[in-house]
Amino acid sequence: MKDERLLIEQIVRALSAGTGARSRRLRLGIGDDAAVIRPTPEMDWAVSCDQFLEDVHFLANVHAPGSVGYKALARATSDLAAVGAAPRYFLLSLALPDERTSAWLRLFLSGMARAARQLGMILAGGDTSRFPKVAINLTVIGEVESHRAITRSGARSGDLIFVSGTLGGARLGLELVRAAHPARDARWQRFLKPHLYPQPRIGLGRWLAQRQLASAMIDISDGLSTDLGHICEASGVGARVWSSKIPVVRIPRALRREDLDSLALALHGGDDYELLFTVPAKQAHVLGTAFKGLRLTRIGEITKEKRLVLCEASGRERQLKPLGWDPFRTSAGARSRR
Ligand SMILES: [Mg+2]
Repeated sequence: MKDERLLIEQIVRALSAGTGARSRRLRLGIGDDAAVIRPTPEMDWAVSCDQFLEDVHFLANVHAPGSVGYKALARATSDLAAVGAAPRYFLLSLALPDERTSAWLRLFLSGMARAARQLGMILAGGDTSRFPKVAINLTVIGEVESHRAITRSGARSGDLIFVSGTLGGARLGLELVRAAHPARDARWQRFLKPHLYPQPRIGLGRWLAQRQLASAMIDISDGLSTDLGHICEASGVGARVWSSKIPVVRIPRALRREDLDSLALALHGGDDYELLFTVPAKQAHVLGTAFKGLRLTRIGEITKEKRLVLCEASGRERQLKPLGWDPFRTSAGARSRR
């Protein structure tokens, strides 16, 4: 094990901030007890933290270290997109076993640095420790115009429910990884990408917040069924979703299996980091069917009655149960899903 100072120096080298205006507003960065950041009066800060743990969220012997670093920051940042904030700074708490402090760490940091560049994130500080497994804890800070953050609790009866992108792709990617389809096989790369390198929908979240179009919003980390339940619970409403409208992942012929159902992947798979949001009906015309090439799909409506209903293509209605990810319902380890 290298000493902590060397480890921190390596982290600083890989993730150090530039010297732009936003770097200057980071008055005190990594190396002191706490970061000091000077916000502006017109802005609110959005702050969130997220854990990414070996054998719970990823398998260190299966998932490439670069993808672990990338995804750790991307999924944490998705929570900022979910309130309409622009990503600004992050703090990295990293615990590692000895054998992950050399090549693994280098690749992990380069993956995280790539995500930081793409997401506009600057490292502000963190902590390191030695531990038998890899444990990554990220605190992320974003900015949103005062009073414009979109919460989970603003959905009202009659609002329309929209989702970005395609759902179920991340879970399909996980199935591919589990089935040990060779990651180097170019045919499967695009199916692995949503699982290994998710893209938080920052631009869409910002647009919805700045234009005040969405009444409620969440990112789909646990699965549509579970995350829609979170919006409904926070808002004191229910929802009706049309199964035929859900933008489900297309399972390629070569991968079709009886137990792999694209609707189930989309409803309960999670890890997609798309945005699920509600829009008052009279504002819906502003949305269209895409935002900068990202598909937007109307999948249902908010109802007064506090239950989740799935309308099937046959016309039959059934209760939509929240069967997405719940760390305390699913045992970790062997059933690790991410
Ligand atoms: Mg979230």
